[in-house]
Amino acid sequence: MTDATPDDSTKRRDVILAIDVGADEFSAGLVTARGELIDRSFADIESDVGPQSHFAALASAVLAQREQAVQHGVRIRAIGVGCPGEIERNCVTVSPAHISAWRSFPLAQHLHELTDLPIYGDLDAKALALAEGWLGAARGVRSFATMVVSSSVGGGFVIDGELLDGRGGNAGHLGHVIVEPGGRRCRCGARGCLEAEASGTAIETITGRRIDEPSWDIMRRTGRLVGRAAGMTCSALDIDLVVVGGTVPESFAATFYNAAQEEIDAVARVGHGAAARITPARLGDRGPLIGAGAVGWRGLRRALRARQRSTGDATPPSGEQPTVDSATDAVDAPDAAS
Ligand SMILES: [Zn+2]
Repeated sequence: MTDATPDDSTKRRDVILAIDVGADEFSAGLVTARGELIDRSFADIESDVGPQSHFAALASAVLAQREQAVQHGVRIRAIGVGCPGEIERNCVTVSPAHISAWRSFPLAQHLHELTDLPIYGDLDAKALALAEGWLGAARGVRSFATMVVSSSVGGGFVIDGELLDGRGGNAGHLGHVIVEPGGRRCRCGARGCLEAEASGTAIETITGRRIDEPSWDIMRRTGRLVGRAAGMTCSALDIDLVVVGGTVPESFAATFYNAAQEEIDAVARVGHGAAARITPARLGDRGPLIGAGAVGWRGLRRALRARQRSTGDATPPSGEQPTVDSATDAVDAPDAAS
């Protein structure tokens, strides 16, 4: 299904076809260089189907958006993907925890064969960091962290205006920091990982209830554990803002955030972390697709710069729209915030 109607007055412009691998559904949308989400489609993530059936569902949403792009009179420049970990850099392969049929699934290749477009992918929590720094709760902030607490737990770090990638592209992945020594066994093999204690999947196993039917105790406990990881992050990285989104905090709301803030206040006590605060992601259900769009714009900009360096040419290559360079410059939100 699609939830927007074409607007005849929309002037021709470039977009990223953004894709988010969510907890319950795949979504695809069109994101402009100013971060507007002008259309989107969804497809359910079925349980107990094979890897190609999952991709067929995703492809239906992608192709629906390609048709919508024609209706809107916009040109798709690239695909941007946000996906839960683990991923290989650029989503060459993906192994999202909650889709067991996708283990080292070659997502980028499948998407390229489907669309013949450049593919840029990243972790969903890093995508959210770009989105929230661009247009959301961390707009104008040079250093901050994001966390996504859903069926799995991820994170992203922006330090001095740069989204950190790390050796394999997984920097900020906070799901496997230990928040409960000797606690529940995690799928990674360790005990007491944040993901094994506070993810939606873990909470449903612990309580035998859906996350939208929580007890006060489990909302408080989950908030404390997320706050513990957030507080240690603030102390370690000299940051004072953690933006948190995902299905768990959306469901648990203020009870969760208050408990998380109390725990941050308790554990982040050295000078630079002492004023640390946790805040909800502000872009709501648009955040994941805007983030995936930002991943696409960031990838395009980097590719353009690499090409310029290799040719020693400061001007965009022939055939490129000159507006792309300036538009994508505005995209790397933390940079733009300086
Ligand atoms: Zn773990």
